[in-house]
Amino acid sequence: MTITSARETGNAPSGTPTLRDGAFGPARELVCRECGTTRELGPHYACHECFGPLEIGYEFGTVTREQIEAGPANIWRYKALLPVPDDIETSPNTEPGFTRLLKAEHLAAELGLSSLWVKDDSTNPTNSFKDRVVACALSAARELGSTVFACPSTGNLANAVAAAGARAGIETVVFIPSNLETPKQVNSAVFTEKLIAVDGNYDDVNKLASEIAGEEDGWAFVNVNVRPYYAEGSKTLGYEIAEQLGWRLPEQIVIPVASGSQLTKVHKAFQELIALGLVEDTPYKVFGAQAHGCNPVATAYKDGVDAIRPVKPDTIAKSLAIGNPADGIYVLDITRATGGAVEEVSDEEIREAIVLLARAEGIFTETAGGTTVGVLKKLVETGQLDPAAETVVINTGHGLKTLDAVSSAVGPYATIAPTYAAFTAARIA
Ligand SMILES: *Cc1c(COP(=O)(O)O)cnc(C)c1O
Ligand SMILES: [Zn+2]
Repeated sequence: MTITSARETGNAPSGTPTLRDGAFGPARELVCRECGTTRELGPHYACHECFGPLEIGYEFGTVTREQIEAGPANIWRYKALLPVPDDIETSPNTEPGFTRLLKAEHLAAELGLSSLWVKDDSTNPTNSFKDRVVACALSAARELGSTVFACPSTGNLANAVAAAGARAGIETVVFIPSNLETPKQVNSAVFTEKLIAVDGNYDDVNKLASEIAGEEDGWAFVNVNVRPYYAEGSKTLGYEIAEQLGWRLPEQIVIPVASGSQLTKVHKAFQELIALGLVEDTPYKVFGAQAHGCNPVATAYKDGVDAIRPVKPDTIAKSLAIGNPADGIYVLDITRATGGAVEEVSDEEIREAIVLLARAEGIFTETAGGTTVGVLKKLVETGQLDPAAETVVINTGHGLKTLDAVSSAVGPYATIAPTYAAFTAARIA
């Protein structure tokens, strides 16, 4: 038997394992996003006709609001809409999701918006939205009989993979760029022995992961060979926002863009909810947020072109530092089709936005959230976002992971002697 490498076929070399009935719940097949060619469920991620990315195709049964509301307070309340088995809650996982949707009245006032919500995903088990996608990838890895759970990561993904693997009792190996922030390295290394620092940027690490996935049997790289399953986890952000708004869609939503997967899946979630009759079909605009130091999608948006020109990232928003974003072209499609935009902010604006959100709402976000809030501010100032329309902004990660970004911008207001005289002299109150 000849074994063709994954780089030629887009598949793990192990072929399709025997799947148990209902292994992927309502998922029926894999569908090419480019040409529509379908293929059986398995460890495949690229179309064998055109090499386009594969997505999950579903056959949903009846899904009601009541059924969802009766589910657990985590992403499995939406299991009827995800490629996971019906008994998913019986296997150990990190149970992410159902994070707070906070009415942000102070930030709204500060920015001149009439209605603003923050979807705060910093409270997930490893403090970023990545726990959602990893939970779905872990389910796929289990069903496919994978022996190693792995990823190339800009930081948060490695944290989530390492923790979920520990919960599940599966071996984990996580690959990161060697220049990553120390807190993100430690947040992986506590969960796994095998944190591999690669001398290169994320795009180099990603290339290496694809090569390993093609050569090694039984490795589930969450965002490479099980990417179609993994990516669906981001839909739960969209479901939750709609449910928490009382089963309706916001008018505007601002989402950070690294690979662009999250943004495309939040849109997919809204479309599914409309198709299933779970929300009314009301118009909404999708906005993407990037850092100036890694702005390939924002640049293509502004230039009015369809092609993304890869960049070499140089920004404090390391969790968004993907220079060659896989779903960038779909981000362009969605933001343009809905009447949104893709905007960018400088590292300085990112720092300011972190402090702005913290002081206005008591939410400490990482640089990715600083990028998103900074872009929200810029969209209002440039008239691209309607201040009278209801808006949701997604905070995807926790500020404790990127302390260095703001440690020089904030600090003691005063250092005083332990006396009342010193207190009054410092004019604190
Ligand atoms: C990965 C990540 C994103 C962006 O995710 P994509 O789906 O790759 O666009 C946003 N915020 C944080 C904190 C992340 O870790
Ligand atoms: Zn195709």
